[in-house]
Amino acid sequence: MTHDRRRLVVVGGSDAGIAAGMRAHQLDRALAPLVVVADAYPNFSICGLPFYLSGETPDWRDLAHHSRDDLEAAGLQLRLNHAATRVNADNHTLDVRDPDGGTLVIGYEQLVIGTGAVPARPPIAGLDLDGVHVLHTMDHVLAVHADMTAASATRVLVVGAGYIGLELADAFTHRSLDVTVVEMLDQVLPTVDAELADELRATLEAHGVTVATGVTVEAIEPGGAGLRVSADDGTDRPADIVVVAAGVRPDTALAETAGVTLGINGAIIVDRRMRTDVPDVFAAGDCVETWHALLEQPTYLPLGTTAHKQGRVAGSNAAGHDATYAGSLGSQVVKIFDRVVARTGLRPQEAAEHGFDPRTVDVTTDDHKAYYPGATPLRIRLTGDADGQLLGAQLLGHRDAEVAKRCDIIATAIHQRLTVTDLLDLDLTYTPPLSAPWDPVQQAAQAWETTQR
Ligand SMILES: Cc1cc2nc3c(=O)[nH]c(=O)nc-3n(C[C@H](O)[C@H](O)[C@H](O)COP(=O)(O)OP(=O)(O)OC[C@H]3O[C@@H](n4cnc5c(N)ncnc54)[C@H](O)[C@@H]3O)c2cc1C
Repeated sequence: MTHDRRRLVVVGGSDAGIAAGMRAHQLDRALAPLVVVADAYPNFSICGLPFYLSGETPDWRDLAHHSRDDLEAAGLQLRLNHAATRVNADNHTLDVRDPDGGTLVIGYEQLVIGTGAVPARPPIAGLDLDGVHVLHTMDHVLAVHADMTAASATRVLVVGAGYIGLELADAFTHRSLDVTVVEMLDQVLPTVDAELADELRATLEAHGVTVATGVTVEAIEPGGAGLRVSADDGTDRPADIVVVAAGVRPDTALAETAGVTLGINGAIIVDRRMRTDVPDVFAAGDCVETWHALLEQPTYLPLGTTAHKQGRVAGSNAAGHDATYAGSLGSQVVKIFDRVVARTGLRPQEAAEHGFDPRTVDVTTDDHKAYYPGATPLRIRLTGDADGQLLGAQLLGHRDAEVAKRCDIIATAIHQRLTVTDLLDLDLTYTPPLSAPWDPVQQAAQAWETTQR
């Protein structure tokens, strides 16, 4: 057993952990955070996994946000293939299993936990069969890739039509595989309103993806040359590969040994300085609850954007500074084939559940002046409270229609607590090939105002 003592130890080498370590070193150059990482892939872009599978990013090594050398040059000391197994909060030590199975004991003054999330494993019989996968780590993607490139693989079934399931459908279609997506709920992409989801479903089907909604997968069994997937609609679908993309749950196993309190969805409760309720233990990323900036209450929103920011706050505070996490609006975007769907803030139903009196307009405009070639329809569902407060938006359009950045305008406005009408005052850019004198966001705001008269 080895003993070591560090001022700052970070557990987790993905978005939150690396952000925490790098920020701490930026603020205090004398601080060399020790980052304990269970696998061999520090700072890889989990968000990029579908694009390695599609072949658009052919080399998995390119998914690294920073190389190991970059990270070490940025002041981090990495312990790869080391799994932290226990936090002994009373004596400020961390037990770590080394690659040979031995135990290291590392003392810390400040600890940041960024253990992230693990893929949900719904109650489906046969999840452990060969050819059945989840997708959250580099090891996962390499395993899917190996199966996918086997000569015999022609049929993929994706369980779950959330944004990851849909990105996978797109990716496998790039590989000319025969793709089926099965979703338990009544629509694809349940994080947006059905009106937009229906359009997206049509896009998937136009690209040859078979979509089944309102169908729950019950069992996967070996069958013939591959697998057979049975569901509650009585179907028994053949597949060579099954990928289960049914959401995530926070990985709190380590944090629980420290005695932290868990909250929403079993995520670690933290304050807005990313402090847990155990002294000198911070946590950030997919393993924690997230402060919702509009609702002003915690929620669970596991996203890379959030993990980076929370990690930075945790790292600042662990280095002795005073940083506060401003909060999330649940802003997210996904590209499926040539379509982009984005959302920020609250959907009408969510707003109503939280006591607002939401009013939504659904507007379709050209993304830029129609006389300039290439204009495409851009749909915006804009939601404001009856008192005018801007609450949220959902957008769907062509990938060249600046959907994400238009969503970001609205996210910025919500962050600044603007009203719907305030959107009309924003001095936004315009040239005919890209927009209109009133940007589509402002056209949606005008339509919203008109319906309120
Ligand atoms: C396919 C896919 C696509 C995505 N696309 C997007 C996107 O487009 N936009 C977006 O915002 N988000 C996206 N996300 C979500 C985003 O990837 C996560 O929110 C983000 O990775 C969370 O980062 P994290 O650092 O909290 O945790 P994780 O990425 O889960 O990393 C956890 C880290 O902790 C380590 N670890 C865990 N336990 C231990 C232990 N006991 N000891 C040592 N190390 C440990 C792991 O090895 C890993 O390094 C996507 C996720 C997936 C799976």
